[in-house]
Amino acid sequence: MMKMMSEQTSKGTLFVVTGPSGAGKGTVLGRALPAIDKIHYSISATTRQPRPGEIDGQSYYFVTHDRFRSMIDDGALLEYAEYVGNYYGTPVAAVDSELNAGRDVVLEIEVQGALMVKQKRPDAVLIFIIPPDFSLLEQRLHSRGSEPDDVIARRLEKARSEYQSGDRYDYIVVNDVLDEAVRELTSIIIAQRCKTEKRIDLLR
Ligand code: ADP
Ligand code: 5GP
Repeated sequence: MMKMMSEQTSKGTLFVVTGPSGAGKGTVLGRALPAIDKIHYSISATTRQPRPGEIDGQSYYFVTHDRFRSMIDDGALLEYAEYVGNYYGTPVAAVDSELNAGRDVVLEIEVQGALMVKQKRPDAVLIFIIPPDFSLLEQRLHSRGSEPDDVIARRLEKARSEYQSGDRYDYIVVNDVLDEAVRELTSIIIAQRCKTEKRIDLLR
């Protein structure tokens, strides 16, 4: 007999949104996520200084190097990476409690960390966000105005190598017209939720 789908039929899906700095990860997610139900945005820990307007515990958990080191030693991070002079990492406990409760989780992280997640959690869905043209990265980073020129230059250098792992992702979202990129990302998340393995209980 057919069964109603229970609230907690299966574990949630881990979505990893990555891509070079300036591609628009934060902007696209900021628009897409409020319209998607039962999805949890993972807050990372970082040793970077807060930018004006960033709030501890909302944008990031801003921690000292010593604290970050003990999180690594305690196995408290699903992945971490050093990125242009600072450390960034994903606290694993919150991710797993959300996934176990049947909610999808989104990580917004750089490329090395994304590949580390895919190794540890092969079921994770990796989404690479890029602008339609590489030169737009520089324009967008300058227009965001959050980093000095030398940091922008280092982020762009990093972006060149990040593009080389692009073929290891499950999806590529092109962030040209913002609404279209939001639609692409939302469609990927919805399609994943429609996979048979996520709905098999409905057939029992
Ligand atoms: P990321 O999180 O990948 O580093 P952001 O979301 O901060 O990138 O976007 C970088 C800059 O580009 C921001 O100033 C943002 O307003 C701008 N931006 C994002 N998406 C678009 C878009 N589709 N068209 C034009 N500018 C964009
Ligand atoms: P920003 O300093 O611009 O906030 O972030 C720099 C880069 O670090 C971005 O690409 C961002 O997605 C990435 N990042 C943020 N949190 C994490 C994390 O927990 N792990 C990893 N590996 N990268 C992260």
